[in-house]
Amino acid sequence: ENNQLKDIIAHAKEYGFVYPSSEIYDGLQAVYDYGPYGVELKNNLKKLWWESMTRLHENIVGIDAAIFMHPTTWKASGHVDSFNDPMVDNKDSKKRYRADVLIEEKAAQFENAGDTDRAKSLLSAMARLMEAEDFAALRDLLINENISCPISGTTNWTDIRQFNLMFSTQVGSVADESSTIYLRPETAQGIFVNFLNVQKTARMKVPFGIAQIGKAFRNEIVARQFIFRMREFEQMEMQFFVRPGTELDWYKTWAEARLNWHKALGIPTEKLRRHDHEKLAHYANAALDIEYEFPFGYKEVEGIHSRTDFDLKSHQEYSKKKQQYFDPEINQNYIPYVIETSIGADRLFLMTLCNAYVEEEVDGKQRTYLKLHPAVAPVKAAILPLTKKDGLPEKAREIVEALKYDFNIIYEDAASIGKRYTRQDLIGTPFCIAVDHQTLEDNTVTIRHRDTTEQERVSISELHVRLTAACSF
Ligand code: ATP
Repeated sequence: ENNQLKDIIAHAKEYGFVYPSSEIYDGLQAVYDYGPYGVELKNNLKKLWWESMTRLHENIVGIDAAIFMHPTTWKASGHVDSFNDPMVDNKDSKKRYRADVLIEEKAAQFENAGDTDRAKSLLSAMARLMEAEDFAALRDLLINENISCPISGTTNWTDIRQFNLMFSTQVGSVADESSTIYLRPETAQGIFVNFLNVQKTARMKVPFGIAQIGKAFRNEIVARQFIFRMREFEQMEMQFFVRPGTELDWYKTWAEARLNWHKALGIPTEKLRRHDHEKLAHYANAALDIEYEFPFGYKEVEGIHSRTDFDLKSHQEYSKKKQQYFDPEINQNYIPYVIETSIGADRLFLMTLCNAYVEEEVDGKQRTYLKLHPAVAPVKAAILPLTKKDGLPEKAREIVEALKYDFNIIYEDAASIGKRYTRQDLIGTPFCIAVDHQTLEDNTVTIRHRDTTEQERVSISELHVRLTAACSF
């Protein structure tokens, strides 16, 4: 199964989607760069999310807050005190792990072996010890459950230490305690601290939402699984502010809406799973993850949390500025409750890529292609003159000119037509448009469909309408 992930990582690199960061220096762990097709795909995904949040909802607006924020923000949010992971080293392999992840993986093994009770009791024991911050007992749990290091195979663990995931740096030229600032570990706080600015200036009435896309940084202890867990990544978050008491209805509404969004993207229902949290974070009164079945198992893609009034209330306490809303319908002041939807753009990208990656055998020949929804495909159509002479390139260029303002188009005249089709399959281009001698006579072209490889003859004048219809979401 992990071979499948390896294939996808190799494909992503070979065909210009994702490269390891600073690769000529052997890369930087858990940091990646997006290549020419990767950036198109990622931008398309972000645009779809942005539009489905802001344009399709009259009561959701966007912001773009800075990565740096006043340091007190992270006191108020709880990140300075409790954005920690339990870190443990194996004394034999000298490899570092997250104790909770090791335990979760063990529980998943029990689950897969059909021993659901054992999986559940292991997870609840872990939750209890983490809650109590009893790391000595958490280490005993590792040893007693015979959870060994995947490299050395031993259970020779060090003590477990708390490790804060925030990156910090210094503002200005003098490095002292008071000049320490953090790179934001989530985008949400930029929304909370701007709640009243947005509410007033965009004249929003509760219920309303604020959406944001931006970079976030976490010093992850275990960085594995490609772009699934990165140290620098991008989040797409939406905070929806509601009247207290109505939050669980809105929570339900958003959970359904977000699941449906993933299905509309072409993710099969059977590959998606809703995981309701039993153990809730201190700020939440309901929480779930939308999980996708990656080649390495079901993992979180998006989190939906009912965060109560925790964040606004805490910012009110720390800033001494009222974070209240006057609700004219009920004539009351209150701090709104918040439903949050939070998805990583990179994880969404990885899910999209895993879901699109198809290897199939046709007539004894292997064919690999990316079955991407045309709305997110990096290139919508490749315009391919059959030969480099007889005016075919010029005719093909005319088609490029007519389409390029509305669609990302590629022109390609090198190599055989078959090779060019293959190349487009590999980057997921849904349509190849071939220009041949007949085109010069009757202004028709051949459209070759990526998924079926079927071809049809259509008039050039129809191309724009066809592409528009296919690429709409
Ligand atoms: P995990 O349990 O996987 O560490 P989390 O529960 O800490 O994730 P949240 O804090 O809820 O994640 O973040 C919301 C979303 O941001 C996640 O669903 C995920 O898509 C994305 N995300 C979080 N951490 C990372 C990361 N290190 N790399 C890439 N995406 C991330």
